[in-house]
Amino acid sequence: MILILKKNASEKQVEDLVNWLHESFNVQTNLVNGTHQSILGLIGDTSKIDIDRIRTRDEVEDVKRVQEPYKNTNRKFHPDDTVIEVMGRHIGGGKLNVIAGPCSVESEEQLITTAKAVKKAGATMLRGGAFKPRTSPYSFQGLGAEGIKLLIEAKQETGLPIVTEIMSLAHIDLFADVDIIQVGARNMQNFELLKELGHSKKPILLKRGLANTIEELLMSAEYISAGGNQNIILCERGIRTFETATRNTLDISAVPILKTVSHLPVAVDPSHATGIASLIEPMSLAAVAAGTDALEIEVHCNPKNAKSDGAQSLTPEQFDSVMTKIKAMAEFIGRPLEA
Ligand code: PEP
Ligand code: MN
Repeated sequence: MILILKKNASEKQVEDLVNWLHESFNVQTNLVNGTHQSILGLIGDTSKIDIDRIRTRDEVEDVKRVQEPYKNTNRKFHPDDTVIEVMGRHIGGGKLNVIAGPCSVESEEQLITTAKAVKKAGATMLRGGAFKPRTSPYSFQGLGAEGIKLLIEAKQETGLPIVTEIMSLAHIDLFADVDIIQVGARNMQNFELLKELGHSKKPILLKRGLANTIEELLMSAEYISAGGNQNIILCERGIRTFETATRNTLDISAVPILKTVSHLPVAVDPSHATGIASLIEPMSLAAVAAGTDALEIEVHCNPKNAKSDGAQSLTPEQFDSVMTKIKAMAEFIGRPLEA
């Protein structure tokens, strides 16, 4: 349920209203002072609340029931876009961010070479997996803590913020200097992990599960936001369908849908969505045209020898060429690349 407050309601009146709601209905409240109006969201069991009782309050302009099960992440609760600041870059504020780098961190040389190349081409953030969720236990599992150390070194070398995936709560302390914590598709419904990340202040890049609906993605984001962390980026990375020509099927329509129903910024990962390097350019351009706030693209200094996902990784030269087109599309759509 949301309460649209009267423009002239004083701070004291709003405080009294909040106390009255807590005492009368045993609900949590979330006040958002937006550019056009202030909204008080009610979270909890609102099914038995008599709307007319709330309407009688002087501070209240209007009351609406919210049908969707996601509340904090719902645009009805928070009409303005959420903008997440990471080392001076803004995700969600009308600029495009490009997060690029290798699937896995493999060595100092591989990571630093790739990091410098993606920075030169205009990437605004560096990605690299230290803990890797692999389908086979016999495949390369990532360098773990050593991989995170190398990412921090690459951040110092390039000035790029770093994005890397967490797979277990046991590793959370290793992420102190990571700028954005990624929750991978396979962990989208690891609710204990999501709850713990709700207590963190770090931005979370939450990837859509392989077989999850848009509403389930938003409910997973709700787990994080319910703990107090509103810095969430929703990432479309392809879903599993009957199609086998691509690794997954990129659900481009998820971008405008998410941006309509939620205030959270949206990212698209064309690499895991398609699994094919030659499709990164067209899918990136489609994602930017659809209104994405960020792209996450795999780039490797030597894809043929990559320890994971070489077939979908761009060479630095290919990435440079794709970035030229991404920049042009970003300008055209009015969401220019973040500096
Ligand atoms: C990744 O980004 O490295 C990754 C494993 O992605 P996803 O969780 O989307 O498969
Ligand atoms: Mn990968």
